[in-house]
Amino acid sequence: MTWEPWLAAAGDLLLGSSCHGCGRAWWGVCPGCRAALVGRRPRPAERVGAPDSFPVTVACSAYDDLLRGLVSAHKDRGALGLAPLLADRLAQSVHALLVAAGVEGPALLVPVPSAAAAVRRRGYDATLTLARLAARQLRGRHRLRAVHLLAQRRHLADQAGLDAAGRLANLDGGLRPRRAWRGAATDGLRTPVLLVDDVVTTGASLAEAARVLRLAGVPLVGAATVATTEKQG
Ligand SMILES: [Zn+2]
Repeated sequence: MTWEPWLAAAGDLLLGSSCHGCGRAWWGVCPGCRAALVGRRPRPAERVGAPDSFPVTVACSAYDDLLRGLVSAHKDRGALGLAPLLADRLAQSVHALLVAAGVEGPALLVPVPSAAAAVRRRGYDATLTLARLAARQLRGRHRLRAVHLLAQRRHLADQAGLDAAGRLANLDGGLRPRRAWRGAATDGLRTPVLLVDDVVTTGASLAEAARVLRLAGVPLVGAATVATTEKQG
């Protein structure tokens, strides 16, 4: 028995009986929102004006009211029961990217690290959880493992609430390879790596993470996200 389902149930109770996606009376996510979510297909998320290091990115949905509701409930309000649903969408993006890139062997899913303060406040690393669940959901089709390869170099503000310029300044040089794999990285990791995140907005976080991984000699395939903002910047 693990504590997560209990926490998820407690979170759902505390959040009340309205759909996390549309707000109508329902427990969890209503059938209409589930159907809308499943109907969406992965597609490239391009970023004009993002740093050159911005990787090829696949997202499974627009970051609209539905996704905003789900991601925010999962990440900021402790609705852990939403993790499998969001991870399923992330898995779609990961699968599409692996197929497009022709990767057939093992690959690593590397979450873009959240600000440590945000993880502490939430009591749970939302992106790492999605990466682990997506790897599990794709078992049988791909050999994937979620690993924390990146850490923050210095104290960063939570990216939420910053404008595009603020996000770039906040991240500049802010990530580093984790100590645990530095030795391996000096020889160049042979396993292809996919960055994963819940939402791509300006592209600053993914660009910085991609830059650091490439500098470390990691064979980066690209990035996969649950959602992408339509408006860039
Ligand atoms: Zn709904």
